[in-house]
Amino acid sequence: MPEQDNAQARGQAVTLGELGESGILREIFARLGPGREATSAEVGPGDDAAVHDISGPVIATTDAMVRGRDWLDKWSTGHDVGVKVVTQNLADISAMGGVPTGILVTLIAPSDLSVSWAMDFTEGLSRACQAAGVSVLGGDLSSSLGEVMVSVTALGVLTEHGTVLRSGARPGDVLAVSGPLGRSAAGWDLLRRSDAGWWPPESEAAVAADWVGFHCAPSVDFTQGSLAAKHGARAMLDVSDGLGRDAQRIAEVSQVDIDLDESSIQAMASRFADVLGSQAALSHVLSGGEEHELLATFADTTTVPLGWTVIGSVRSVQQASDGDQRIPTVYWEGKPLENLGWDHFESPAV
Ligand SMILES: [Mg+2]
Repeated sequence: MPEQDNAQARGQAVTLGELGESGILREIFARLGPGREATSAEVGPGDDAAVHDISGPVIATTDAMVRGRDWLDKWSTGHDVGVKVVTQNLADISAMGGVPTGILVTLIAPSDLSVSWAMDFTEGLSRACQAAGVSVLGGDLSSSLGEVMVSVTALGVLTEHGTVLRSGARPGDVLAVSGPLGRSAAGWDLLRRSDAGWWPPESEAAVAADWVGFHCAPSVDFTQGSLAAKHGARAMLDVSDGLGRDAQRIAEVSQVDIDLDESSIQAMASRFADVLGSQAALSHVLSGGEEHELLATFADTTTVPLGWTVIGSVRSVQQASDGDQRIPTVYWEGKPLENLGWDHFESPAV
């Protein structure tokens, strides 16, 4: 690779093994800009542990990505992976109604991983955190025999409006989403089709590139969760495994049925249909994962925040005619939605 040739010509280390741990950490620290305004009590990377100056209940979450399983190097850069692993975690803080404040990051990689990939990853992670006003507090670096794995633990705080759990949906609520669904799945679809030699015509190339960009490095508004809490959201999560599966999660823990609204979902799918066909488009909206927009229920349409789209309604679990309680279900066109989305252990890699 020309990049490696240049590095070798300048006498720079090309792999993590050549650079060594202290060299790697020096390069990483140089790329971690300030995320939020640090207080005098705050201690960031470089000491034995971080000190995070926040008050009140702390929200914590963690999420990891593995090369070959959660990303492919032929499709995603290190920068993309850095953005994506931060987004996944901060969306989970937001989905609780919280405000993300800091992250810890772990990189586990073989010694032959290129320094340029690791620094690209660090820059993606750092920029995503800066954009969200979140501090990179610290982390860990370890070696593996071949796998590249990245993991982020995110911390956040609650606002005065408290937490929003998955279990608060009630019959009569409306179901709403904070942004469009299907972009990540559409991007993944395009990447697979491009591997097979197909790419949309020039007139659709820009929007297609946007979807691919969103799939590889998703970016969402992490302030929407606390806004939804302020608006009285009763149940909420982020769409990480597909609308069907994630709506089913709300239905099950809230013990309700959910009817998805065909016209609003078809409208969402129409932007993909022209490029990818109507069947793929609908599938991407209903079951595409890694969207990270928020899915929430509200008491009525007047309380749904501006910019959100109502895509369904909540009702009591249907009783069978013999009186047996039926299981909470997500309905599409009056029938149980069958294709429920991504499962880490059932679905094929990437
Ligand atoms: Mg989540």
